[in-house]
Amino acid sequence: VKNELGRDAVILRTRSYRKGRLWGLFGGRNVWEVRASANDRQIEGTYYPHPHEGARQPIDVPAPQNARSDVDAQVGQIKRMVEALLTMQSAPTQMPTELKALREHLGQQDVHEEIAAEILKDLSLNLTGKELEDPRVLGECLVEKLADRILTRDCSDKVDGCRISALIGPTGVGKTTTIAKLAANHKLREGKRVGMITIDTYRIAAVDQLKIYAEIIDVPLHVVLTAGELKSAIESMRDFDVILIDTAGRSQYDRLRLSQLSGFIKAADPHDVHLVMAATAGRAAMNSTLERFVQLGANSVIVTKLDEATACGSVLNIADAGKLPISFVTTGQDVPDDIQPADARRLARCIVEGN
Ligand code: GDP
Repeated sequence: VKNELGRDAVILRTRSYRKGRLWGLFGGRNVWEVRASANDRQIEGTYYPHPHEGARQPIDVPAPQNARSDVDAQVGQIKRMVEALLTMQSAPTQMPTELKALREHLGQQDVHEEIAAEILKDLSLNLTGKELEDPRVLGECLVEKLADRILTRDCSDKVDGCRISALIGPTGVGKTTTIAKLAANHKLREGKRVGMITIDTYRIAAVDQLKIYAEIIDVPLHVVLTAGELKSAIESMRDFDVILIDTAGRSQYDRLRLSQLSGFIKAADPHDVHLVMAATAGRAAMNSTLERFVQLGANSVIVTKLDEATACGSVLNIADAGKLPISFVTTGQDVPDDIQPADARRLARCIVEGN
């Protein structure tokens, strides 16, 4: 398969069956069927177990267009898992004790196995035996490696005119609370002119919640029902420094509402589209959220509820799976204090030191 498709090829499926007269019941011979994929094409072919019996016959099978990126993503993930497992299997004999202890620690910090395996591999290649035995050197190097993988985005940089930020994400992750924290910090600590907009297509209680925050922080809040109203609300606050847009929580499983949300995002044309994700979410929920919401143009992630997560590793997992930079992390329900701009080294230290 690698000869045919190159070194990145991955076997998707194999099966063996008997081919020959009367469905293989009498006579015939064993055949292996192999389906494999590389980045841009798939092949399917039959291989006979004894080279002298017959030649392989790979047939090019074009992957279905819309499924290709899904397949690529899944194949990539499976490949990394398999590599991680192989590293794990070889671990007992080959891995130095210090790295084994690190692997356990990263596991306790909820870092996904394949990421931990890549980091350990990296460390073992870059550090000498002596350095591996020095906990200080090992710890520092681990912080570096982890920080390298946590991309961050500085949202305090200057933009031309008013900075527009929208928060999207599933319900209950903390969007409204985070908007209130951001608004309060911009207004009360940085002295900026701040406006808030909420999209109320379903008349949910979140609007009332934001109204209360708007009154306390003393910033105007526009409640809009359509993309046109959203544009007008933005226009009316063009001379402000910051406009924050809250979007009603959308279940990531609801495609119709997501497309509606996509229309709002296009109309607002924000500088920042923060995808809000809770550090407490499990792996399946995390992947499904990323899959649905990244399409809406998210360009950064806000990780919430870090205080409720058992460990900090989820930040690394989210950064790694989403390939999006982290802009802020939130660590509690208190408005405005429990929010910080993401700091890769600080988050890496949190994983290494376990707090
Ligand atoms: P939304 O539906 O995404 O707008 O979520 P909300 O802002 O209404 O928040 C849902 C719940 O999560 C509320 O009880 C918030 O107080 C809580 N919450 C938000 N951020 C955090 C956080 O960083 N830590 C903790 N522990 N709770 C949070």
